[in-house]
Amino acid sequence: CGDIDVHALALSPRRGGPKNLPIFDSWLDDTDTPEKAESSSKPRLVVLGSGWGSVALLNALKPGDYNVTLISPSNYFLFTPMLPSATVGTLELRSITEPVRRICAAAAAHFVNASANNIDFKERLIECSQRDPVTGDTVNFYVPYDKVVVGVGCTTNTHGVKGLQYCHFLKTVDDSKSIRNQLVANLEKAALPSTSIDERKRLLSFVVCGGGPTGVEMAAEVYDLMNEDLAKHYPKALRNLVSVHVIQSRSAILNTFDHSVSEYAMERFKHDNIDLLINSRVVEVKEDRVLFSQADPKDPSKKIIKEVPFGLCLWSTGVDQSPLTKSIVKDIGAPNQTNRRAIETDPQLRILGTPEGQAYAIGDCSTVRTHVLDTALDILKSHVLASRPFSANTQETPEALEKRVHEIKLTVGEVKRLTAVLQKTLPDSSEHFVRIDELFQEYDADHSGTLSYSELTKMLKDVDQKITSLPATAQRANQQGVYLGKKLRKIASIGAAAYDTPVPYGDIDAAYYKPFKYKHLGNLAYLGNAAVFDFGKHGTFTGGLLGMYIWRSAYFSQCVSFRTRALMFQDWLKRGLFGRDFIAP
Ligand code: FAD
Repeated sequence: CGDIDVHALALSPRRGGPKNLPIFDSWLDDTDTPEKAESSSKPRLVVLGSGWGSVALLNALKPGDYNVTLISPSNYFLFTPMLPSATVGTLELRSITEPVRRICAAAAAHFVNASANNIDFKERLIECSQRDPVTGDTVNFYVPYDKVVVGVGCTTNTHGVKGLQYCHFLKTVDDSKSIRNQLVANLEKAALPSTSIDERKRLLSFVVCGGGPTGVEMAAEVYDLMNEDLAKHYPKALRNLVSVHVIQSRSAILNTFDHSVSEYAMERFKHDNIDLLINSRVVEVKEDRVLFSQADPKDPSKKIIKEVPFGLCLWSTGVDQSPLTKSIVKDIGAPNQTNRRAIETDPQLRILGTPEGQAYAIGDCSTVRTHVLDTALDILKSHVLASRPFSANTQETPEALEKRVHEIKLTVGEVKRLTAVLQKTLPDSSEHFVRIDELFQEYDADHSGTLSYSELTKMLKDVDQKITSLPATAQRANQQGVYLGKKLRKIASIGAAAYDTPVPYGDIDAAYYKPFKYKHLGNLAYLGNAAVFDFGKHGTFTGGLLGMYIWRSAYFSQCVSFRTRALMFQDWLKRGLFGRDFIAP
């Protein structure tokens, strides 16, 4: 052991908290580097999760500013946009993963490979567990914090459909491996002389439930694989038996993209003979087939049930709360936590209903509450009504005032003024306010220059919905992580005194930092030797090979390290020269 003090390795933690568990407030690597040693007296910042949000946060912090501990059951960061490519062997899984310990070392943070099960916001304790993969034994313990950031992502939405145990999901490295194993096993079984034609067709039928970006990209990658590599290495007769199906409940795939982009994607898939089953809702998954409903062509008010057999079925239909998110939302409860999909935060990303400046949530597990409607109506009362001549009766009752608000008709100028005030009040949502003017034009077309109270309310509800449902994307998680990292850095830079000195309104975050503002940079998706881009108000781009190379470059530039960039480049080169390695890893 050289000069290592072996006695220091035997830490004996105190016990406590509501469940009288061991409380770990020191780690074996507390003094391994000067930054770690220096930070041991600093506020304890515990980050939960090792995904897009948490890693962006860690990278934005200044090492040594906080005593940082990252807790996650995954000891790697996964570059999810490339997961479909890695699943079919275009890239290797190790090329799209970065060891968390490497990221932690750069940020002078401790890493604990465990899951957070619960947070006691009063006692400031996180209940964690670590499961031994061999014995199955579980160790439970608490980790105390001064500030906690929840970035635990989300799970896949099952929509209550029966039989999902027969489906694959695509969120983790293990999911990707099991899809790859199944694909290889199906191909090998289909190539056996003893396998019947019908069974071969079933084995080579790939069904994707969900026409969002992940489902579409996975369908495109499987199509590429079958088209480009299958014929080279497996009997050619199998090629004609392969089928790829996408079942989508809406009338178009990629329906969150611009209409022209989803049209292009549908045309492309039709051209590639990918079977698009739109306006189709999965009702049940059986061991070897998916049952879905469609409107009866003879009587559209009625539904008919159809089925498609599969050898592999991918379930990719939106997001749901992870167990930790569920428990946080349940424990805090209404009125602070009322959203069924995510933890609600204020625009400073603080979890609503927790002590100020102690608990934050970022990424897919969170949503920002903005109250556009309430704020707009308050502003409406105070600004718009105040600017109009009141009736002679100055003793107006609240009921009478309310009645006058309901009776008003706003002019274009008034709506614009209201929008400007709202924009200042809710700065995180300004992107979406551009749309208020557009929406007003739509309403205006029918209403000759004025908007009634009920129309205004309808319009604001629409905006509210769009703002609170920020997309569950790496882009958003990354922006929130960077924002929070910079804010915590700023708070640390004002020094320890800042924690003790009262700040205006007692709100340290708002006193020293602006609220989070989401900047939508666009959506992109891979379509099989083609890609589509939707840059919002800056337009769209759809293209074949050129699109694919732009798509690759966009993600190549976003890799978290030079190591992953080098590995990805090597994989693409290898695939270009020798084709995909298609073996079960
Ligand atoms: P995640 O990145 O999901 O990370 C969550 C982390 O929390 C993980 O490390 C997990 O192990 C950990 N964790 C879970 N439970 C616990 C717990 N109890 N305690 C502690 N840690 C826990 N987005 C895009 O913008 N562009 C794309 O092209 C794109 N493609 C995608 C392709 C696929 C296949 C998938 C699955 C997603 C894709 N996304 C894409 C979405 C994007 O990956 C997510 O929006 C993003 O990962 C969210 O980041 P996050 O930090 O919130 O959570």
